[in-house]
Amino acid sequence: MTTAQKAKKVTKVPSMQETLDRAPFKTLEGLLAKVASDFVPNERLSVTESAMKYTMIGDGVGRTVHWSLRKTPYIAEPQDTLTSLDHTGMIFVGPARTGKSVMVLNWLTHTVMNDPDDMLIVHTDKKNGSKWSKGEFERYLVASTDVRSRQMTSRHFDNVEDKQFKSGMRFTLTYPTASNLSAITVAKVGFMDYDRIKDDATESSIPYDLGAVRTLTKGRRGMCAAESSPNPDKEMEDPKWRSSTPHEAPPAKGIFDLYNRGDRRLWMWQCIHEDCKQWFEGTFDLLKGWEDIADITEAAEAVYLQCPCCGQAIPPSAKEGMNARGRWVPQGAYIDFKGQILPITGQKVRRGKIASFWLKGPAAGYRTWAELVTGYLTAIRAYEKLGDEGPLRTWTTTANGMYYVSKARLSDRNPEDLKQKAEDWGSTQENPTVPEGVRFYVITVDVQKAYFACQAHGFTADGDMVVLDSWRIDSSRRLNADGKNLPINTAAFREDWDQLTDELLTHSLELADGSGRRMRVKMCSVDGAGSEGFTTQAYRMWLRLKERGDGSHRRFAVTKGSSILDAPIAETKIVEAGQGKKHALVRGAIPVIFCGARMGKDTVAQFMARTVAENSENEPGGGRLRYPSWIPDWFYAQMTNEVRDEKTWKKIGSRRNEAFDTAYYAMALVFRSVELESPYANIQLHRLNWDAPPEWAADWDANDHVFTPTHDELVPEPEKVKRLTLAELAKKLG
Ligand SMILES: [Zn+2]
Repeated sequence: MTTAQKAKKVTKVPSMQETLDRAPFKTLEGLLAKVASDFVPNERLSVTESAMKYTMIGDGVGRTVHWSLRKTPYIAEPQDTLTSLDHTGMIFVGPARTGKSVMVLNWLTHTVMNDPDDMLIVHTDKKNGSKWSKGEFERYLVASTDVRSRQMTSRHFDNVEDKQFKSGMRFTLTYPTASNLSAITVAKVGFMDYDRIKDDATESSIPYDLGAVRTLTKGRRGMCAAESSPNPDKEMEDPKWRSSTPHEAPPAKGIFDLYNRGDRRLWMWQCIHEDCKQWFEGTFDLLKGWEDIADITEAAEAVYLQCPCCGQAIPPSAKEGMNARGRWVPQGAYIDFKGQILPITGQKVRRGKIASFWLKGPAAGYRTWAELVTGYLTAIRAYEKLGDEGPLRTWTTTANGMYYVSKARLSDRNPEDLKQKAEDWGSTQENPTVPEGVRFYVITVDVQKAYFACQAHGFTADGDMVVLDSWRIDSSRRLNADGKNLPINTAAFREDWDQLTDELLTHSLELADGSGRRMRVKMCSVDGAGSEGFTTQAYRMWLRLKERGDGSHRRFAVTKGSSILDAPIAETKIVEAGQGKKHALVRGAIPVIFCGARMGKDTVAQFMARTVAENSENEPGGGRLRYPSWIPDWFYAQMTNEVRDEKTWKKIGSRRNEAFDTAYYAMALVFRSVELESPYANIQLHRLNWDAPPEWAADWDANDHVFTPTHDELVPEPEKVKRLTLAELAKKLG
């Protein structure tokens, strides 16, 4: 008895129509071949069941093991679709190391063992095809003895490109040319590594379409499949394209074009946390914990996945379990927490003759999250150091399963465009000045581990925002044993935060009119987000300012970026620090201005767009971003380092973007609405009456923040400023 006979399995009695549909032989030759073979038609197995039973894989050390679904459960549904009578096409896009190339072998297993019919496999080109045939394919045939036993192994019937089986079925391997894909008629056509096929391989025709035509006469039994990782060198056709749903791939020739034609299924995981249990797609941007770690190995070890629904951490060890329970969901549908696939309200669940699947990097069975992060960091560093996009292209497509958009196309603005519009109003890096027209300015601070990134932004009556200065405070007043200044340590030392408030609250800049007068800062803010250490220090800083009782706490705000999409540009919320905690590091009510990241950054981006617009030189100001010509190139890079997708702003890689962040905090400070509960000074730029402005926004001659320094104050050397208490200074300033 053969294995197939031993494994008789009848799941249900097929209807007459199903029996006819399933009958593999409708010709005399087919019938004879069937009689000659030991095929048992009532072993009804899916491709996956057949593969688990008959596909054998070499384990690399000379033993063979049964192929198993364990590492790659997401393969089951795509490969089982290959025998679906409801579909005539199956498309699978995913990164490397997903185990996707075994689908073709499993399909062959099922065809030989359970459903004999002619099969045509199309590899990318002749060379790769024969390499695959002599390598992976040969090893599979040798290992999978049940399949092998059905093969006619005399040399006449068994060569690299053509194999025949006792049932009469024929397996052909070819590569895409217009003529290779024309003459024959087969039931099953499979393209391997589809995106690597050269664009002109089949002249003006699309290879997949030529293959699909071959299966047409087989009606519902016909199937044309393609699998591939995205090709790193393919560009999307429309750089301004934005997906309308995560299920939609960009307009690009090749595998994404085929995927878009189908029902666009994405692989969903269920959150492991009992209080959440929501379904989501595990994409790379959900991997967290590694971003601020410099060492690549340490960064990779710190990685976890943050559930986009509840925000809780999911450890790498949970991946296999989530994959095991994972589900494919087509466009227009979602899964509820009970696991039911339901239509999204107002949308149609996408259906069609092609079932298409798109898997992303974090789900790949043979690549860990740590490896994914390591690959990313290695690639992004090559880009940052050498400007070489190659490794990033390869990582994005073959490791992460995404499409790549070249940097030049990503940003609507490029650093060069901005740089060309820089202005020379006599300002220098050593002595940055305030240009004509600026009525007041604010300083906003982004906190990093070893420095405070400060940027001063002035505002004009006609609505321009002017970057006056951008600098770092990185040297602490604390001294080492040799009397040298230690570096700033923002998480650890209150002294460093006191230094920050001392330097900023007394900050002033010289006016550009040569009068020698200076302008004092109107308001400051520091970002209290980030690690726990920063937050605690920022809160304590603010409470100390309040204790002074001199009003400093109204002029120095604590901010936090809000990533809630519809958050207003600024909104003060009172944070009760330390409440209910026995050993709280900080205790008290702190007013925190939450800055809506999307709205704030959109505003900055609109200002920049007006700056670089063609006619901005001729038109008088109004909502432009301006900056001095001395400002170094990193400023332009940072201002263009984030990209707006259809939802929100995303950083390109891990490059710095403090200039952009501080710019949007400034927008938050000046456009914040009146809030009765908030102690912070109101600016309300959008409501200012410029015909009768408040004194701090008046013309320089009437502006109460403009002053003529006394001799001592002419050059406010940092040492001098530091020795003065605020009260002394206030007296001096009159
Ligand atoms: Zn969750």
